[in-house]
Amino acid sequence: MNAQDSIINLKAGNAKYIADQMLHNHSDSNRRVSQTGGQSPFAIVLSCADSRVVPELIFDQGIGDIFVIRVAGNTANPSSIASIEYAVAHLGSKLIMVLGHESCGACGAAIAGGDNGPNLNHLLSFIAPAVNQSNSKNINDVVNINAENQAAALITNSKIISDAVANNGVEIVTAFYNLSGGKVDFH
Ligand SMILES: [Zn+2]
Repeated sequence: MNAQDSIINLKAGNAKYIADQMLHNHSDSNRRVSQTGGQSPFAIVLSCADSRVVPELIFDQGIGDIFVIRVAGNTANPSSIASIEYAVAHLGSKLIMVLGHESCGACGAAIAGGDNGPNLNHLLSFIAPAVNQSNSKNINDVVNINAENQAAALITNSKIISDAVANNGVEIVTAFYNLSGGKVDFH
């Protein structure tokens, strides 16, 4: 599936999720068994770890449909980039979505600053540039800037991904998930 069809698929699934009309396709034992020998997810989603942001539900997708990496602040760090590289190079996914969300706690922590210990400090260092770039320091503004920064980092920090975008029809998009309404705004 090409990138544009992947976007259409995700938008259709999100519409069903918003309307409480989810199909829950690809969620049964037949699908599970059919995917034992391999996977070919049509999209890659770099999402936050927030428990309210569940990509398979948000886009009404099932087993083997989307390759999801979840890390606080949907950050493009070496491990998340390596995971995306695998899906791009070996699974044939043509769409990469960086999915930010409303009221992201990781972005909130980055705005607040301070010493949060070595691990969280390291994580927040990936988000800090978005805080500096935001005039308002409003959390959702930082979320959107951060998503753009992480998308850019995928290109800057990965030859596999940048080559796939340049030569192999891979597209990177950013999006914003609204917690209460359930809508994903594609940027
Ligand atoms: Zn978050």
